[in-house]
Amino acid sequence: MMKKGLLMTMILTLVLAAVLGLGIVTSYADAVNPTLVLDGQVLETPDPPVIRSGRTLLPAKILFESMGGSVGWDGQLRQTTITLGDTTVQLTIDSTTALVNGEEKTLDVPATIINSRTYVPVNFAATQLGCQVLWDGVNHIVTVNSPKKAIAITNIQVMEARSTVRVELSSDGVVENYRVVAFENPDRIVIDVRGAKLQFNGGTAGGLGISNDIFSNVRFSQFDADTVRAVVDLSVQQAPQVSLSQDKMAIYIDFTTDEVNEAEEPAEDDPVNAVEPADDAELAALGLPRLDWRMQGKLIVIDPGHGGIDSGSLGYIDGELALMEKDINLQIGLRLNELLQMAGASTAMTRTEDVSVGLYDRPEIANGLSAALFVSCHNNSNDNASPNGTEVHYSVKASEADQGFTSKAIAESVMDELEISMGLLRRGAKNSPAYAVLRCTEMPAIIIEGAFLSNPSDLQYMLSDTYVEDYALGVARGIIKVLNAAVDSQQE
Ligand SMILES: [Zn+2]
Repeated sequence: MMKKGLLMTMILTLVLAAVLGLGIVTSYADAVNPTLVLDGQVLETPDPPVIRSGRTLLPAKILFESMGGSVGWDGQLRQTTITLGDTTVQLTIDSTTALVNGEEKTLDVPATIINSRTYVPVNFAATQLGCQVLWDGVNHIVTVNSPKKAIAITNIQVMEARSTVRVELSSDGVVENYRVVAFENPDRIVIDVRGAKLQFNGGTAGGLGISNDIFSNVRFSQFDADTVRAVVDLSVQQAPQVSLSQDKMAIYIDFTTDEVNEAEEPAEDDPVNAVEPADDAELAALGLPRLDWRMQGKLIVIDPGHGGIDSGSLGYIDGELALMEKDINLQIGLRLNELLQMAGASTAMTRTEDVSVGLYDRPEIANGLSAALFVSCHNNSNDNASPNGTEVHYSVKASEADQGFTSKAIAESVMDELEISMGLLRRGAKNSPAYAVLRCTEMPAIIIEGAFLSNPSDLQYMLSDTYVEDYALGVARGIIKVLNAAVDSQQE
């Protein structure tokens, strides 16, 4: 019994440490020296990290010099000075006041000397120096990730092609963290590249002084220490299509020039991009809001589930095959595509006919297009005939943060609208991080399961004239409502 009690205490302690992170480590953990992992590799230290009052302390020298920083020691002041990149952190032994680039900051556990070596609180020091610090309380691992090296924005230029005007920002590295947002009063497009330094124009703010039918200028600046900002001053209310170059080292902001468009032949082999925005009366008749112009550049990828050799679920009536999921998914996807375009949205589809598309190719298509939203249209099935109704799946990912709306908000809005338009049992919006297309997409993404092919009543409805329209309209309304609401939440 004794042994079991001790084991329980240990497990509880580990769970607590894991749940509460660096902030709490009990006496059990004090006895264990954590492992230090720097940028994915275990960093062997002659003097291992220790835990004092719930904080991990470690020898400053080996960690920060391994990252290319410098660590100095002033014996008279009993002060250690750590420099990494542009940041200097000074810690005085036994003092809870530290200096970060000369500015005083308070820390809860001071630097200390153990076996004549300077130990510093890793969470405070590394975070102040721009590192990421993670604590795995179960395995007792402190992970430190070096600050990402800033990329340089080396060129900003405007290129005019037959039907587009492109603003191109080029860098010397992979662009990972950026956002493009449209604002009104005055109408403008703001492009923020984070983790970036302006090198173009000698690093000083300025403007290209280029004007055309779309914009009157493109301005640029080092907006803050970490962010390069370009602003396109619009002459018309047009949200551009945004994409990255193949090597991800350039951002393309593409505007459409109207008069060239009119002269162009309609693309006959491209049925999914043939729909003109509808007039107010048409949209009112459909009960479909118009998409705010500031959201019209956001690409929505529509993914009709299954296709080709993959039929999806099968619906039977009296033992006869009555419906294949892949077919109704495609009809819904095509109609959703039309409705979204009528409302002013930019769209693309993973398939427009009865062809096979790999499960992992679907998110790849959306990622490759730098899409803003991924919508997968499915219908449900169960071994049992009784389950019925509508559900929507989502998974909120860190990578979707810059879109101004979340997977969850889209899923809940689509669920609400489908409940109204289709009137089936509400099974709800569900957090389902395990689904491949939700996991592998880098933008907000949902999977809709409209109704059950395995349920006789749902199947009757699916075979009716109204199902595809009710489904597509509900999804379109749900998406547009969230996008329009997100316009006002965008902060400059
Ligand atoms: Zn399916």
